[in-house]
Amino acid sequence: MSANGFFDQGELVSVLTTQPLDRTLDYKAPEGGCFQGAFVEVPLGPRKVLGVVWGPGRGGFDLSKARSIIRVLEVAPMREEMRLFLGKVADYTLTPMPAMLRLATRAPGLGDPPSMRKIYRLGSGEPDRMTDARTRVLEVLRDYGGLAFTLKELAEQAGVTSSVVKGLVKLGAVREEDSPRDLPYPHLDPELPGKELSEDQARAVATLQTGLRTRDYGTTLLKGVTGSGKTEVYLEAVAETLRMGRQALVLLPEIALTAEFLTRVEARFGARPAEWHSGATMTERRRVWRMVGQGDAQMVIGARSALFLPFRNLGLVVVDEEHDTSYKQEDGVHYSARDMAVLRAAICGARVILASATPSLESWANAAADKYDRLDLTSRFGAAVLPKMKPIDMRAEQMQPGTWISPSLRQAVLQRIERSEQSLLFINRRGYAPVTLCRACGEQIACDHCDARMVEHRFLKRLMCHQCGETKPMPEACPSCGVEGKMAPVGPGIERLAEEAEATFPDAKVAMLSSDLFGSARALKAKIEEIAQGDADIIIGTQLVAKGHNFPKLTLVGVIDADLSLHGADLRAAERTFQLMRQVSGRAGRADKPGLALLQTFQPEHPVIRAILSGDEEGFWAAEAAGRQAAGVPPYGRMAGIVLSGPEVGPVFDIGNAMARNDAPLRDIGAQVFGPAPAPIARIRGRHRVRLLVKAPKGAPIQDAIAKWIAPLRLKGDIRLTVDIDPQNFY
Ligand code: ADP
Ligand code: ZN
Repeated sequence: MSANGFFDQGELVSVLTTQPLDRTLDYKAPEGGCFQGAFVEVPLGPRKVLGVVWGPGRGGFDLSKARSIIRVLEVAPMREEMRLFLGKVADYTLTPMPAMLRLATRAPGLGDPPSMRKIYRLGSGEPDRMTDARTRVLEVLRDYGGLAFTLKELAEQAGVTSSVVKGLVKLGAVREEDSPRDLPYPHLDPELPGKELSEDQARAVATLQTGLRTRDYGTTLLKGVTGSGKTEVYLEAVAETLRMGRQALVLLPEIALTAEFLTRVEARFGARPAEWHSGATMTERRRVWRMVGQGDAQMVIGARSALFLPFRNLGLVVVDEEHDTSYKQEDGVHYSARDMAVLRAAICGARVILASATPSLESWANAAADKYDRLDLTSRFGAAVLPKMKPIDMRAEQMQPGTWISPSLRQAVLQRIERSEQSLLFINRRGYAPVTLCRACGEQIACDHCDARMVEHRFLKRLMCHQCGETKPMPEACPSCGVEGKMAPVGPGIERLAEEAEATFPDAKVAMLSSDLFGSARALKAKIEEIAQGDADIIIGTQLVAKGHNFPKLTLVGVIDADLSLHGADLRAAERTFQLMRQVSGRAGRADKPGLALLQTFQPEHPVIRAILSGDEEGFWAAEAAGRQAAGVPPYGRMAGIVLSGPEVGPVFDIGNAMARNDAPLRDIGAQVFGPAPAPIARIRGRHRVRLLVKAPKGAPIQDAIAKWIAPLRLKGDIRLTVDIDPQNFY
């Protein structure tokens, strides 16, 4: 290899492939040579697979047998910092490198030459005969002042079938052209005027911009109540990043959020950024991947895996709603996008902004320990004030059986209806009822494959397992005792609460918001938009609504069961309840009208409920931190979850027991092993699950120890082992 990382034709190179092998493979550099980091296609047995030139070959075998790289793909080579990053994430999460490479290349057809597609513009011809549909197509094209559309976009915008557009093409009124698919993204202009900032905001922006200009790594926790203008603040940090010619990545927890956010970005910078999430089409993903790599996308907004895009010059990563649990990926590579964002930024001299109204205890503690800077926005922007929070003591309410809206809450909702304001009734449970019970024998309908009860979904007219997604029809007769007509719902889900709201408030318009009620992210976005415009008196929502949507007419939030998440065995139960209740309550009173949040609870004196109501956040964090410190658990100690699973419970437990007996590598670092025990959900999709927990002192090399611990294991048959470093969920 020459000093600049170039391999001459025929030189032996090692290639990391996306195939599940435990090592890199040696190949000869192709005709014309190749650079280290080049994306290549290599032969593997009879197949061609994707790989990256990782370094010089190791050799040690008959070189005449070495096969040659088939071709170098026409995409920007993987940068050294990316190779470093993938290696570090692999070490941190105990993930094999091929799986890391798959995560970093999740766009189809990366190597294909830029393909062409048809686009449509206004033509010069006049149609012989105008129809409404034709008029709409031409109006859309005129409205957008000469911009081109794809067939699908144009037909959708105009609300016509594609044959109407094709008809206009034949008549010359619309022009069809070929255009390359992977176009650079439109230029974002940081010099367009932003909003005039409040004093608080201006101070935060100045600090962040000064940090950015150092081009050194640094992380800032940006804490501010919902509506305090955090988004405006970090958009100005994005602006500074763009001025410096660097790229910005904004991570958001929820696709449904992006519609509103995109509009704000467009208003600030004059164009839309690149989008990377599960709702994006394959061609869009490919475009983002390529343009990010060649520096033709200045800003990306995306879900957690956007962190693995091949940025050419990343200067800023914003993790909005940084406490959100969806940043932790819990299948495949178990990584926390928040933590890995910090790692990535440290490697490439970028800044990280962690924004939240209710930060995770981890980030709070890192700020308290001066590892992160902290900026606080203390008041809501403009006239909006924080909602008042009050408990409704359910022990004192007269409740009819099978109802969940207390008389006090009903009163408050009625007042809002009279004033034409909106109310949100929050319940964090999808479906109609969490339990279906036979009144004759007491049988509860469970999933056949999981250790979980089936949840009735009336909307789908089926029972569903929330673990594996299996559904079955609601039985007429009890599957256990055979008695007919005795199956009854127990407890409320969002659908049942909506039914109660419709009966209780017959003149009100009730809208349900739950991720499973909409066929597509687009339909959900449209619904949220409608509701924000005021098209509902009462919104019944799950966790989905807790996340950052703006409903200007919303002035009342009623939490149906504030105690629900208090009862988890999870070490973060208190933290989660605190965050969720404060987030949900934050939905009320975002515009000019004051908001009220009412929490229905059976334990108003519970310390967590009291902390939520009093709003004494620092007190809550300090108490929570002290408790965890005493217990030696995260963030003051380290944890890892090991889950063994297999079709039969016996052999799975045998391995777990053997692991617990042979725990020398862990004892060497002062770590303890707990278990094996059946996992809280002991069976999922027919696989029995057994869990071990590792607890280690802070700073102990837990990954190395676990790697040594599991290396000698020979898992037979269908038994699988997963390691989750810093587990967030214990299931
Ligand atoms: P957060 O991200 O903290 O929830 P946002 O940035 O979304 O807060 O701000 C809340 C609302 O206040 C938004 O509608 C936003 O447009 C508005 N806002 C915030 N800062 C300003 C400003 N400096 N000038 C005008 N409007 C602002
Ligand atoms: Zn199931």
